[in-house]
Amino acid sequence: MKLTGLMAVMPAWVSDAACSPEDAEDWQAPDASPQSERALRVCRGCPVRLQCLAAAMERPEAGIWGGLTESDRERVQHGMTVARVSEIRRHRAGLGEVA
Ligand code: SF4
Repeated sequence: MKLTGLMAVMPAWVSDAACSPEDAEDWQAPDASPQSERALRVCRGCPVRLQCLAAAMERPEAGIWGGLTESDRERVQHGMTVARVSEIRRHRAGLGEVA
């Protein structure tokens, strides 16, 4: 798990995270880079994605959390649903259509 900063006190769900400290730079890479796309793919299959996202929405963190980038989380903070943000991101990655 790549936890840093405010998340240094580890919640229990961290032990089930799909990411690992060895890959931490991928979760901090610029948006739309190959590294960030790789991180987002890992997040999509993570069993604790919702817990991770909830934590990041409570305490702002840099980088990708819960399968969303910082700009994605800002969109959610401003009213867009997580499902819509994820749908748009999948479309941009060529993985699906936006309705
Ligand atoms: S959702 Fe992504 S950032 Fe969060 S624990 Fe899972 S793999 Fe790591």
